[in-house]
Amino acid sequence: MPKYTFQSFLAAFALLVSVSAAAQTVTDVPLQDTAVKTKSTAAAQSAAAAAASDAAKKVPTAEEIAAERARLERMRAALAAERAALEQYKADLVRRQQEAAAASARAKEEAEAKIAAEIKAAGSAASIPPPAKDDPVSAKTLSPEELQRQRQLAIERARAIEKAVATQKAADAKKKAAAAAQTTTPKDKDVATMKLRRITQDKVRYVHLRDVAVNYGLTFAYTKKSNKISGAVIYDKTRKAVLSATYREGTVNGVQVHFLYPILIKNNEPYISEVDFLTCLDPLLRYKTAIKLGMKTIMIDAGHGGSDPGAMNGTHKEKAYTLQIAKRLQTQLEKLGFRVIMTRTGDTYPTLQDRAALCKKYKPDLYISIHCNSSTNKTPSGIETYRVVPVGGTETKGSKVKTEKQSANEFDANNSRLAYEMQKGMLAATGATDRGIRHQAIYVIANATCPAVLLEVGYLSNAAELKKIASPEYQNKIVSGILAGLAGYGSFLR
Ligand SMILES: [Zn+2]
Repeated sequence: MPKYTFQSFLAAFALLVSVSAAAQTVTDVPLQDTAVKTKSTAAAQSAAAAAASDAAKKVPTAEEIAAERARLERMRAALAAERAALEQYKADLVRRQQEAAAASARAKEEAEAKIAAEIKAAGSAASIPPPAKDDPVSAKTLSPEELQRQRQLAIERARAIEKAVATQKAADAKKKAAAAAQTTTPKDKDVATMKLRRITQDKVRYVHLRDVAVNYGLTFAYTKKSNKISGAVIYDKTRKAVLSATYREGTVNGVQVHFLYPILIKNNEPYISEVDFLTCLDPLLRYKTAIKLGMKTIMIDAGHGGSDPGAMNGTHKEKAYTLQIAKRLQTQLEKLGFRVIMTRTGDTYPTLQDRAALCKKYKPDLYISIHCNSSTNKTPSGIETYRVVPVGGTETKGSKVKTEKQSANEFDANNSRLAYEMQKGMLAATGATDRGIRHQAIYVIANATCPAVLLEVGYLSNAAELKKIASPEYQNKIVSGILAGLAGYGSFLR
């Protein structure tokens, strides 16, 4: 072994001593962190390796050994300090846990006391169990066990109150929901979602009227004449529709309505034509079917004019009165902030096509045509409002079924409601005879590009009514009726 000298033997011996000292030092300290232990061992090994490398060159001096010992001593002290810090942390943790538990217990006690106080305040409500004789309030002298029992009772009473309140709240909510269903179902339910029995008779589709009533939340009843079913009525406190099985005339909320078909009684069950249901009954009893259009711009059409005098009675000409009323209406509407477009402002005659073209061009929100009625019979008087005939329906004075859709048919439901509101408004304002909402193939309203109605404000052939129509007072009444109708129609759009 030529490479190993005595000196190198000594160095190896010194190394052995230091390593064993390091190992001893490490095991002396009961470490909790094995990573530290591994690290210390690794450090010792690394130091030993370095020392071994050095030892190959020279023998460690006594000073060097002492320094190594001191270094190991410092390491031990550091580890001891670390252990002490850990112990301190553990103690702190335990203390904090105890504090939290105490705080929680205090909070619980306070909550219980609060509940007891609330029970006392709640007094003797019928649904609350009466407080026991030995109420905790007067229990200052009671034993801790009794106090505990009282507290438990208080909690139970509080729970009873909570339960009673919750039950009451649930009952109230149920009641409210039922009431809401009563009023909102007819308004909000989509026709498509209604469960309605349907039949077809003579190529006309019919809907079971009793089912309609159920969906609207209305009561159904038959009307009878000479002990035979003559028609039906559906109603509640605020709405009522009367329908005949013989005639097309009926009423909705007291206003005469010329339906498209009489109702059908089959196997003692009532049916309304689907077209009447969708375009007439539904828009008059509910708001759901409205197309939510604006009503800012209104086109007023004064009937006839120029070469076309319209109806005449002596020197009285329809064209003059329609223009007077139209102008009064224009003034009032403009005062209210509406934009008004007149189909004529003087004694001129725009053709029916011209009038329809104006509507198409200016795209008003509503089209109102004003006319006066006439009859060879001098007796009839009163007001009528016309709307376009819905497809599948017939004219009021006719039986031919309309098959072709016209532009105003886009607004069948709105037309119907507009006609109803106009008729209702004018009747209320004038006290005139109700001749109803009717359907007729009238060019200007059928070709309108918006909801449209034609008003027959009275009979020039009736002397008494002519006198009224010629007066500014009555004309103003008609105008105020139209304004009221517009207000009603406005609520239909909301
Ligand atoms: Zn006319």
